[in-house]
Amino acid sequence: MKKSKYVIAGNSAAAVAAIESIRKADRKGEITVISKEPYLSYSRPLVTYLLAGVVNENKMLYRDKEFYKKFEVELTLGEEAVDISPERKIVKLSNGEEIMYEKLLIATGGTPIFPATKGNNLRGVFTFTSWDDAKRVDEYIKTENVEYAVVVGGGLIGLKTSEALIARKIKLTIIELADRVLSATFDRKASDLVEKKLKEVGCEIRAKTTVGEILGKEKVEGVVLQDGTRLDCQMVIFAIGVRPNSEIAKNAGLKVNKGIITDGRMRTSAPDIYAAGDVAEAYDSLLGVNRQIAIWPTAYWQGAIAGANMTGKDERYGGAFAMNSVEICGLPTISVGITDPKDPGYEILERYNGEKLVYKKIVLRDDKVVGAIFIGKIDRAGIFTNMIKEKIDVGTFKNSLLNDDFGLAWFPKEFRKHMVVGEGIEI
Ligand SMILES: Cc1cc2nc3c(=O)[nH]c(=O)nc-3n(C[C@H](O)[C@H](O)[C@H](O)COP(=O)(O)OP(=O)(O)OC[C@H]3O[C@@H](n4cnc5c(N)ncnc54)[C@H](O)[C@@H]3O)c2cc1C
Repeated sequence: MKKSKYVIAGNSAAAVAAIESIRKADRKGEITVISKEPYLSYSRPLVTYLLAGVVNENKMLYRDKEFYKKFEVELTLGEEAVDISPERKIVKLSNGEEIMYEKLLIATGGTPIFPATKGNNLRGVFTFTSWDDAKRVDEYIKTENVEYAVVVGGGLIGLKTSEALIARKIKLTIIELADRVLSATFDRKASDLVEKKLKEVGCEIRAKTTVGEILGKEKVEGVVLQDGTRLDCQMVIFAIGVRPNSEIAKNAGLKVNKGIITDGRMRTSAPDIYAAGDVAEAYDSLLGVNRQIAIWPTAYWQGAIAGANMTGKDERYGGAFAMNSVEICGLPTISVGITDPKDPGYEILERYNGEKLVYKKIVLRDDKVVGAIFIGKIDRAGIFTNMIKEKIDVGTFKNSLLNDDFGLAWFPKEFRKHMVVGEGIEI
């Protein structure tokens, strides 16, 4: 049986970070990566840009082609880890091969939810989270001359997919079950500005409903909404959420909630098995609970911690918090931390200009920034992310937080020397 000191299931942000961490401490130990997708690690957030034609396939790779050779990684593409035996320390692959590991990382991310809607088996029904999805949708648009589509879901993935379809000159309707788009990360005012922008570029939005049935004989011809409205369309894209690929962990007896439960070192409940990225639940430093934060930088950070600890180091994951930096049809937006608190005890500072599509909101608790929304003008948002991280008391200068030129210069001297403005939130 093949033996590999380190085995990693998955080959995306968390896996790459783990590889880089492992090689910093261990030049020799064998690393085997098993990946269900047939590609070298690529930037998942770019798949909608690929469909839009904004980036080409050469720009998709997250690390260059030589990465695996340089880091001496044995890569098995197009195969899945299907079974783990924590007692025997063996991973079984979909091709029947078994690999014995010393340390295992589960970095299998998530799978888009595909609802059991009547007609979901027709040609022209898709989800949209992978490079293959981008290829399939692109092909379908071209062969079927798609002019009108329906996107189900007004969250981040639904809106980025919509943006790509708009760039392809496709008319579309977004169907959202909640009463507004981006309801999980934005407040009402922010959602309204994004909806205004989407409508400006010709997109229709139907909230508080969903698709009851997809119509067509062999391919999509339309949808019927729950309220009985019929919309003609040639394509339906479901973007209603992603669930963690945690089944192999669950079947192996590891503790799994929605995602795989990890401790402060990204260890799972089984010895020598780690989890990182969208599949894992880890500490949210703002909410004080363990949960999934399904964003690229968090996946990378967790993977880096897991990789280091797999080599025998003792590194801690300090906890992250929700942050999204998304441009939607030219409108830049950022949401960080707690953006729409319902409990008393929070202080809200805000500036709003609906005409110019500009909105700034700062959420404070006990004179500490715990959340922010920026729309239209986002250039200084990185400072706020840092203030949340560093739990800086802004009591003495909070009246300046909304000033256009607010920056490090406004901080009292003793803070300035401790504040490092990081790269912000980057893909
Ligand atoms: C359209 C889109 C836009 C996004 N935009 C942003 C953004 O702007 N900013 C941001 O921060 N985040 C964004 N995200 C989220 C970000 O892409 C994810 O948080 C990140 O990719 C998670 O990385 P990961 O390493 O956990 O796993 P993933 O990227 O989910 O990859 C997991 C890999 O494991 C493979 N796999 C699954 N099961 C197995 C198995 N059993 N064996 C082997 N391999 C397996 C999967 O096929 C996949 O290739 C976006 C996501 C999507 C879909």
